[in-house]
Amino acid sequence: MYGLSEEDLRIQARARAFADELIPFEVEAEHSGGELPADVVAAHKARAIELGLFATNMPAGLGGGGCTSLQQVLVQEQVGRVTNALAWVAATPPSWLPAVATPYQLEKFVLPTVRGEREECYAITEEGAGSDVDGIVATVRRDGDDYLLNGEKWHVTSYNSADYAFFQGKLVGGEHDGEHAMLMVDIPSPGVTVVRTPAYTHTFSHHHPVVAFTDVRVPATHLVGAEGDGMSFAYEWFRFERMMVAARCLGGAQRLVEEITAFARERAVQGKPIGQLGAIQAMLADSLTELFAARSMVYEAARGIDAGADVKVQHAQCSMAKLYASEMAGRVADRAVQIFGGRGYMRENVAERLFRELRVERIWEGTSEVQRSIIADQMIKRGPRLLA
Ligand SMILES: Cc1cc2nc3c(=O)[nH]c(=O)nc-3n(C[C@H](O)[C@H](O)[C@H](O)COP(=O)(O)OP(=O)(O)OC[C@H]3O[C@@H](n4cnc5c(N)ncnc54)[C@H](O)[C@@H]3O)c2cc1C
Repeated sequence: MYGLSEEDLRIQARARAFADELIPFEVEAEHSGGELPADVVAAHKARAIELGLFATNMPAGLGGGGCTSLQQVLVQEQVGRVTNALAWVAATPPSWLPAVATPYQLEKFVLPTVRGEREECYAITEEGAGSDVDGIVATVRRDGDDYLLNGEKWHVTSYNSADYAFFQGKLVGGEHDGEHAMLMVDIPSPGVTVVRTPAYTHTFSHHHPVVAFTDVRVPATHLVGAEGDGMSFAYEWFRFERMMVAARCLGGAQRLVEEITAFARERAVQGKPIGQLGAIQAMLADSLTELFAARSMVYEAARGIDAGADVKVQHAQCSMAKLYASEMAGRVADRAVQIFGGRGYMRENVAERLFRELRVERIWEGTSEVQRSIIADQMIKRGPRLLA
């Protein structure tokens, strides 16, 4: 199905087997704030590396998987079957970075990240600027051989496990005054402090704290690309990550479709399996149908990227993939909870966990509303026939 090559099928099978190894740890993680013992997490990460599922998006020449976009989707789809972010150990480091990294940055940041020795996080969003990235007020000011960074960043995912952050701010002074700059900041660094660590809907060991940067001094050698380039990296990352979000949503929905089918076969009410009830059948059928549509779309969009589609077309298609797959997965999760009845409301049940966890897929990396506006803008500019 889906015209996958032998190589695609092999990496898909490895990723599926890996996800199946992690699933038995989910309930323990759920009941302990998302945490598993450090040696268990280390073993999971080592296993991801061993199976070739780590840094699949990074160039083979740098030690990464060098996988096609479709293969990256296949891996992240399986990752999406696992709750509590346990499969985030199959990480995808910033694939846009090698092209702009200096030799120093390659050695200090890129290569150790591809080897799984260092981990990054992203400090872009602020209290007053999420969807509108250009609304950030954090500042970057040149000071001799350094830059001074100031600002407060929200929702900094994985800050608690990362050892460097991509910080985005607006330049103050100089030729590029008011434009964006991105810098890599080692964690910890003097002046970088956690303001607070809010609780979120999901139960992950990865926190999303509010982080203050106060007169943080960073060597100019940590500037990514050139002054004024900051926004282009953010857009490149969004394109990639929207596709990966879509892929993980396929996986979440696949897991649920399998679980609700099994439950509908077994669970009997008044002596009859609920799978024979029309109301339940409608929910089962709608879920699989929508999953099939979403998967076909996501795979096709990934193939377009591999074939070198125009970047604006890629941008619109990644938005369509994220929009449709995340909304589809949300509907499937809602139905799954309903089909499981009271069990679907218990944290030990995968439908309950995915119902909560999948909600953010419609928010981060650009909300559904933002995806719709990107798609509609491209339709108006280029016409729908080029885009789909
Ligand atoms: C769990 C989690 C982890 C995150 N991790 C990170 C991270 O690691 N690094 C990081 O930098 N950020 C991160 N984010 C931030 C995330 O990217 C933003 O929350 C998201 O982009 C939305 O921004 P916002 O929260 O400011 O909402 P707002 O932009 O304030 O949006 C509020 C509402 O207005 C709507 N809206 C906004 N603009 C438009 C528009 N143009 N048209 C129509 N409707 C619109 C939105 O859809 C939404 O419904 C994370 C968020 C969460 C929840």
